[in-house]
Formats: sequence, C-alpha cells, structure tokens
Amino acid sequence: MPPTLSKSRFMSGLQCELKLWNDAYQRDLATPPSVQQQAIFDVGSAVGKTAQQRWPGGVEVGYKPWQRQPAIAKTQKLMDDPAVPAIYEAAFLAHNLYVRVDILARVPDGWELIEVKSSTRPEKEVFLQDLSVQYWVLQQLGVPVRQAGILVIDNTYVYPGGDYDLSQLFRFHEATEHCQEQADWVAREVERLHGVLALEDPPDISVGDHCFRPYDCPYYDHCSAGLPKLEHPISDLYRLSLAGRQKLGALGVKTIPDIPDDYPLTEIQSRIREAVRTGQPWQSPELREKLEAVQWPLYYLDFEAWSPALPRYAGTRPYQAIPFQYSLHIQHEPGGAPEHHEFLHEETTDPRPELIEALLSVIGESGSIIVYSGYERRVLQELASQFSDHELALQAVAARLWDLLPIIQQHYYHPDFRGSFSIKSVLPALLPREGWSELDITGGMSAVIEYERAIMERDDAIRDHLFDALRAYCAQDTLAMVKLREALLT
Ligand code: SF4
Repeated sequence: MPPTLSKSRFMSGLQCELKLWNDAYQRDLATPPSVQQQAIFDVGSAVGKTAQQRWPGGVEVGYKPWQRQPAIAKTQKLMDDPAVPAIYEAAFLAHNLYVRVDILARVPDGWELIEVKSSTRPEKEVFLQDLSVQYWVLQQLGVPVRQAGILVIDNTYVYPGGDYDLSQLFRFHEATEHCQEQADWVAREVERLHGVLALEDPPDISVGDHCFRPYDCPYYDHCSAGLPKLEHPISDLYRLSLAGRQKLGALGVKTIPDIPDDYPLTEIQSRIREAVRTGQPWQSPELREKLEAVQWPLYYLDFEAWSPALPRYAGTRPYQAIPFQYSLHIQHEPGGAPEHHEFLHEETTDPRPELIEALLSVIGESGSIIVYSGYERRVLQELASQFSDHELALQAVAARLWDLLPIIQQHYYHPDFRGSFSIKSVLPALLPREGWSELDITGGMSAVIEYERAIMERDDAIRDHLFDALRAYCAQDTLAMVKLREALLT
C-alpha cells in the first residue's frame, strides 16, 4: 500500500510532484531548516497556542505526526463527549489522506473548522487550499461542518497590556462556500497525488520557479547539485518579474549579457546589463554631487528592531517594529575618524523609552543623518506618533534623514552587486575586505533571533557574548555606510 497522503504532503504535491515523492521516500535529502526558518515555525506554534484560548475549555489531541491511529481514536472520543467544547489538533483520515485540524469547535448543530495562520492576510491561495483539503476530508467522513475559515492576526489591534483580547487580536475569515466549491478539485488532486506516491521512482522534474513558490523547497540544494553555475544569470536582474523571467526563458536567454539589445528593460536593468557586459562599474555623472549634498556633521544611523506577532508591550500592535538597538557613527568633517555611539536594551521591558532618550542625547540638532533605506524613517515616525513627549524632537530627527540607498540605486552599479542593492551586497563589491562575514551575527533576522535569546538568557557569560555580537553587528552596519560613501567619493 502506498504511503499515506498527509495534509503537508498534499501541499507539497501541489507545489511539485517530486517534492511530494521526496517527502514520502527521501526525506533525508531535505536541507534542515535554517535558524531563521525555525524561528518562523516557532512563531506559528506560539500563535496557534494563543489562538486556541479563543475557544476555552478545549482539549488537545496530542500524539506525534506518525501516531495516526491513536490520534484519530482520541479525536473520535472527544467528539463523542458533549462536554468538550473544542478539540485542538483533531485528527482525521479519509481516502488514505490524513489531516490535523488546528481547532474544531463544537456548535449547536455540528462543528466549526478553524485553520490558524500567523499571517495577517487570510486570502492567500495556499491558505485556502490548506483549508479546503481539511474540509473535504471531514465531508468524506460525514462530519457536519457548519463553518470553515482561517484565523489570522489582526495587525490593527492595539494591545492595552495584560491579557490579550482574543476577539480583537485575531480576525476570522470565513471560507465555507469556497471550500464547498473546491470539493471536486480536491478530489482530483487527491487522486493525482496518490498516483505520485504510488510511483516506484522519483518523478523527473527539473528545478525552476516552482521551487520557490509558494515556499522555498528544502530539496533545492539536492535538486540543483551538479547543475552548471551560471555567471550573472537573469535572476540577478534587479526586480525582474516572474513574467519577465519566463519571457526571457522562452527566448532561450539565461544570462544577463545575452539579453538582446532591443529587449525592453527598466533603466536600472539596462545599466546592470551594461555593467555586466563591460565588467566595469557604471556611474552617473551626478554621483559625486549627490553624495556631497549633505550637511556636516554627518550622523550615520542604523536601528535594529523586532516585530513580534504577539505584541509584548502595551500600546503596540502585532508585527509593529520595536527598535531595541541603534548604532550611530558621527563624522565631524570630511575624512575625519568617526566617533561611535550605541544603545542596546538588555532587559525584557519595552526598549523604546530608553532608546529615545539615548538617541536624542547624541543626535545633535543639525547635520545630515545618513541611513540606508526608508526603514529608519518609518521607525522614527512610529516612535513620534506613540511618544507624544518626544514627538517634535523625533520629527526633527526624521526631517534630517538622508538616504544613501536611492543615490546608489540611481547613480552607481557594480557587476558584483549581483542585482542586489542591499548594503550587504554593495559594500563587499566596492571594498572586498569589508563586510560582515567575520562576525557572529551577519543579518538583521539573525540579530532579532539572537536578541530574543539574549534577553531571556540566564547565564551571564552567554548573555554578554550575545550582546557583544549584537553590538558588533549593528556597529558594522553604520561603519559600512561611512566607508561606502567615502569609497564612492574617491
Ligand atoms: S527543488 Fe524544485 S524540483 Fe526539486 S523537489 Fe523541490 S520543487 Fe521539486
């Protein structure tokens, strides 16, 4: 008998038949989830647990994913007990398709089926497919589902402190009719995917755009091993749409230099093709003038912030960016050695009040504040809107911001940027010995993960090590801007 088709295998099969086959027979070929991916899974679990409290008194079925029969039996027992108002992780099997339902809530004449997502957007196709397959299984078993829908986070909810108001923290998107309409489609897909599972050999499928939609496939390293590495593939073309990639693919174009001269590209894309073809950086005649259009002294500023799905501090919303750290390099004159200031909140309390005080004490009243992207502006504006005592001062800081990113985007391109204007790509292209690779923390998402670890850590030595790593990472971000601007001016 072919292996059971679980809901996650069903979703894998929708993305790629080989992914499904691998899930069933060659799971060890998958690249283990990165720390960042694991952090996203953990957020999903925490949100799921919190959502359960919206149906209090419910009972968790439990059991490991492979313990299907006991989970199914326990689900049935709980359904038969009218004193149980809701079942968490209810287990069902029909047509050799096994699903776990996040929340199955008892209603007067049947059940309500709820799929919980940590997203704020319930309309995603992949979520509706996920829900439809669960609904189909319950229909096959004759479970009277009166309503089915997706529960997502409502990012307009302002957390007042204390317990969450779960009716406001979450938003329910009803999709019963959609599930009913999808029944024939699910039945066809179930049959097709059972067919894939019955194959003795893996289906012959090559890598392509489907490997990243809707999710990055964990088998990509395996499937792409041995493929020739292209120098400057068309995927390195800045903001090339999927349609554009497919169009170029249909023309047989695989690398940027091969894009025909008469092929329609945006201005930035044309520059990229030019720089890649010549192997030389491209720069506009206005680059120097733009870089010099600053007011001295220069303040190079970078925030690190986290965006918890479940708000931690009173007055904040789900996924609101909460800055917990900044680095500031101050350069008093051209070519002068920068003076460094920093702030890192080392407690579990709201970092913002102390961060604001610290920033305002060193940021001065005049001089351009150099940033890289619009992120610092958004953070400052949010702080200004929430801390009325400092509103004017923070708005004055925001008014001095000077963004280096659009200057580079519009006036400079180096072939080694490889289509990315991220400072992590730009700095090493200009100054190969500079970068983040020697640091313990090398990216913004890792910084957030390590910050969460650090503030919860009880061992002082580990805490200090993590905080030092965070300081080194953030300091490098602002020093990178100092060096980048100077390198572009030489
Ligand atoms: S990497 Fe691509 S081709 Fe390979 S299993 Fe995943 S989706 Fe399929």
